Amino acid sequence: MIDLRSDTVTKPSLSMREAAADAEVGDDVYGEDPTINELEASVADVLGMEAALFVPSGTMGNQIAARVHTERGQEALVEAESHIYKWELGGLAQHSELQTRTIDGGERGVVTPEAVAEGYVEADDHQAGTGLLCLENTHNSKGGTAIAAGRIDAAASAAHDRGVRVHLDGARLFNAAAALDVEASRLTREVDSVMCCLSKGLGAPVGSMLAGSEAFIEQAHRVRKLFGGGMRQAGMIAAPGVIALENRHRLGDDHANAERLAAGLDKLDGFSAQEPETNIVLVETDEPAEAFLDACEEQGVLGVPFGDHVVRFCTHLDADREDIEAAVRRVENR
Ligand SMILES: *Cc1c(COP(=O)(O)O)cnc(C)c1O
Repeated sequence: MIDLRSDTVTKPSLSMREAAADAEVGDDVYGEDPTINELEASVADVLGMEAALFVPSGTMGNQIAARVHTERGQEALVEAESHIYKWELGGLAQHSELQTRTIDGGERGVVTPEAVAEGYVEADDHQAGTGLLCLENTHNSKGGTAIAAGRIDAAASAAHDRGVRVHLDGARLFNAAAALDVEASRLTREVDSVMCCLSKGLGAPVGSMLAGSEAFIEQAHRVRKLFGGGMRQAGMIAAPGVIALENRHRLGDDHANAERLAAGLDKLDGFSAQEPETNIVLVETDEPAEAFLDACEEQGVLGVPFGDHVVRFCTHLDADREDIEAAVRRVENR
């Protein structure tokens, strides 16, 4: 089976499994797990932030950030197709009692300073006010678009000018950095916090990182406990993350494979594929997406529906060039 449903389907490598078995551990709730401390320090450094926190999932990282940055009842400005708004069970309302106000980021999911200015609400006797701006890079629902540093900076500055904090959902931040050919830390320069996933393109079995200032991470540590994410000898699951972090240097391979896949499918009758910016390929299908995916599955290729006539394929560590070329042939012969 060539599983291109998501970059989360990768299996931990032998070296990750060995690292898990050999990990030095301690009680992380007391801050005594050396492997976690090492991972947190490395990630903070790579992201250009003062400190970082290991969390079980990207969703928890985003939700902790929102809770730390805001007061109850405030508004969060979110992109209309963003993960934190659409795919986290309304967590901003459930965990942080926030109202959401959406910004339309257009075809590529870019939040402009003008849109921030327009969406901003000043607190007064009748309005709770805007407490947080959430950005996403790469933008998943828009097809893995890699949003340039200048765009992120501009939106963040517009928020800061109004006293609003900024959180960046960087589940695939390293894909954005690879596509834009910049350090990941360049993309986080103006934001107050960032979440990135170890368990997506980087290939770790579990875990995400939340990074920000020392003071922010101190609060995030408490909220992680509140949300039930305090962990004990979790160096066992952080050790593969240390190895996964190095995989950020090979994401260009996944992007090249995504281009191959898009070009291959686009040539076939009945398909039109956007040119991918990173590792996500969105394909428009003449036939209904569900029927197409059923036929693909019979041929041993998996994707996910992303609309009635849109399918998403995602390239990753466990699908090499041969797999991608085979996937195109199998789709053609379905
Ligand atoms: C996957 C994803 C998340 C959530 O990560 P989980 O580890 O699955 O909870 C958040 N934001 C974006 C953009 C994602 O793609």
